[in-house]
Amino acid sequence: MASKRDYYEVLGVSRDASPEEIKRAYRKLARQYHPDVNKDDPQAEEKFKEINEAYRVLSDPQARAKYDQFGPAAFDGAGGGAGGFGSSGGFGGAGGFDPFGDIFDIFDMFTGGGRARARGPARGRDLEMEIEVDFEEAAFGAEKTIEVPRVEVCPRCRGNRAEPGTPIQTCPECGGRGEIRRARTTAFGQFVNVTVCPRCGGEGKIAAAPCSECRGAGRVRRRRRIHVRIPAGIDTGNRIRLSGEGEAGERGGQPGDLYLRVRVRPHSVFTRDGEDVICEIPISFAQAALGDEIDVPTLEGSHRLSIPEGTQPGAEFRLRGMGIPRVGGYGRGDQVVRIRVEVPRRLSPRQKELLREFARASGEEPAGNRTFFERVRDTFGGGRHAP
Ligand SMILES: [Zn+2]
Ligand SMILES: [Zn+2]
Repeated sequence: MASKRDYYEVLGVSRDASPEEIKRAYRKLARQYHPDVNKDDPQAEEKFKEINEAYRVLSDPQARAKYDQFGPAAFDGAGGGAGGFGSSGGFGGAGGFDPFGDIFDIFDMFTGGGRARARGPARGRDLEMEIEVDFEEAAFGAEKTIEVPRVEVCPRCRGNRAEPGTPIQTCPECGGRGEIRRARTTAFGQFVNVTVCPRCGGEGKIAAAPCSECRGAGRVRRRRRIHVRIPAGIDTGNRIRLSGEGEAGERGGQPGDLYLRVRVRPHSVFTRDGEDVICEIPISFAQAALGDEIDVPTLEGSHRLSIPEGTQPGAEFRLRGMGIPRVGGYGRGDQVVRIRVEVPRRLSPRQKELLREFARASGEEPAGNRTFFERVRDTFGGGRHAP
């Protein structure tokens, strides 16, 4: 470091240059020698460091006065400088001087872009899972415990990535900025590519000794058991939101939410139409014709229902307020009892005899069916003489 060039010489300004002149000279040179613009020229990087060092001193009135009085020797050596500057590869940091701030202001004149900052806290991702509930659980609500695989803040380092008791350091890769900027020269001018620092992930800080539990990630995968309250009246396709039960945030960010997509298991007896519960009840031909009192299943046990004389297949009876409760509201849907009339499949000779008698009493001829089909044929005009 002994053969250091004069700082004024480095910047190409006179000893009585104004701060404005110094800044202008620095900007011009910094742009010219920026290592990202001169990737293939190792000397450019040295030159760039030299320019920055000169500017760091000459742009600070106090440092400049000291330099004028004592010369470069006042700034030599590891202990003498104002901050870890000019050491291998690392800029900025403790000194409060920000060469990139200035240099990138220059580039921003070309790109017109704002400056991306090191990444701050990031909210954790939302998670979505399916939850299966029984028909009755959906109707009346339930308490359930589910297991959620998710990313959580590491319990050992509490997310700061360092083994407890070890320090956190400024990232040497990005000098604490959390981002890496690379300038590119094209026919349209210079453009700056900003990428998140791969070493520190944008935080600007890294752990001297990574946490042994999360290996320095700050977060760990866990299967977490979570208690869930299923609200009454919920249905397939509804989503339950559990605030803050998603994945852990990064860099101190809020956790995401957990969404549970509801799927109601089919029931052996009931189906559902909105808030109404539907059930189909088989009754006999005689019950339908003569009327009867029957027991129908409901969500709350058996219920007596009176079937009037002459009930037709498909007839529906409503049991008011015996359906599904409305979510978060008042009242309930109905239970709809749908009647299916069963035609007997096997009849005893005695039953057959009685039914024939019944038919005759109804004015039907035993050959009534054939007449009906002949009438159909006549209607469609074809019959036996059809081609
Ligand atoms: Zn950890
Ligand atoms: Zn970094």
